[in-house]
Amino acid sequence: MKLLLAEDDPMIGESMQQGLRQAGFAVDWARDGAAAELAATTGDYAVLVLDIGLPRKDGLTVLKRLRQAERALPVLVVTARDTVADRVAGLNLGADDYLVKPFDLDELVARVRALLRRHSGRGQNEMRLGALSLDPDRREVILADQVIALSQREFSLLEALMARPGTVVSRESLEECLYGWEEEVSSNAIEVHLHNLRRKLGGNWIRNVRGVGYKVVAP
Ligand code: CA
Repeated sequence: MKLLLAEDDPMIGESMQQGLRQAGFAVDWARDGAAAELAATTGDYAVLVLDIGLPRKDGLTVLKRLRQAERALPVLVVTARDTVADRVAGLNLGADDYLVKPFDLDELVARVRALLRRHSGRGQNEMRLGALSLDPDRREVILADQVIALSQREFSLLEALMARPGTVVSRESLEECLYGWEEEVSSNAIEVHLHNLRRKLGGNWIRNVRGVGYKVVAP
């Protein structure tokens, strides 16, 4: 699952990006408001983590533009100033949640996951398909009561497929889900991860629809 991070402070941004990656998200990091707005209106992100104090275009303006453009992207606003006026302004403009600096990385991850949960309409994060279940919070996949050990990328791939079981997802969107802007991706990376994932799951959980993409189905 891919997030957009808008933060101009290099140290804070770096630590947020790292924390979110460690939690298993792919992260594109925009360093100013204009870049954030462009990415948010053209890219496909699960959540936008938006700093208010940004150069070139402040966070509240970016948020306003997104809502005007009717982008339903969930937005977690991050601010250094915990004033009632800021909070009200952000919420009025359509922020979904608020986080005040300084914050704990665990709290950031928890808030992002809560937003994803609310947005997907699922009461809990766990995804289920037949004997297969995936828990994004615990980073755990269980198949017929056995824990399946997966790499970070394999887990993210399965997560992307299980978000919509039975729906074909293209190789390009899987690549989008797994890798951020700065990450090098070899041309067959997705195939390699899929191959390993299939081997670990066994059976015929992941189907290739030739020329279109991949889907997960209960065999
Ligand atoms: Ca800032």
